Amino acid sequence: MECIFCKIIKKEIQSQIVYEDDKVFAFLDIQPVNPGHTLVVPKKHSVNIFDIDEEELCEVYKAAKKLAPVIMKAVNAQGMNVSSNNGKVSGQGVMHMHVHMIPRFEGDGHKHWSHKKYNSGEAENIVKKMKELLKK
Ligand code: 5GP
Ligand code: ZN
Repeated sequence: MECIFCKIIKKEIQSQIVYEDDKVFAFLDIQPVNPGHTLVVPKKHSVNIFDIDEEELCEVYKAAKKLAPVIMKAVNAQGMNVSSNNGKVSGQGVMHMHVHMIPRFEGDGHKHWSHKKYNSGEAENIVKKMKELLKK
């Protein structure tokens, strides 16, 4: 079965289109966290941050930058969460790379992720591994 966002991009499925150019498509999330919640996606199918081309990713975030003040003004928001879920375990439901642009309002009830503490030496070990991997 074909990807639902590819179908939206091809306009085979109706959406509230916010913006479109050669590389990028942006439309309202059908189940918004808040009104104005917009999804920015690359036109060329990729699954998420792990497989998207650098150039495509840049285009997606360039569009996000352009749209941020527009979305804010359109719904009179006071702030905005810009984020993407990558992989099923992170909450990614649609396997076509997308950036959520979620307008935020004082007292809107939307909760942040929870926080944990590192055990002794844990942070240092993780950073050591990361640095080794960055050398490869
Ligand atoms: P994810 O959970 O994968 O990060 O986010 C996928 C988002 O796509 C969800 O917030 C969901 O509401 C939205 N979505 C899923 N199917 C459709 C659809 O057919 N049309 C639109 N406009 N949004 C969709
Ligand atoms: Zn797709």
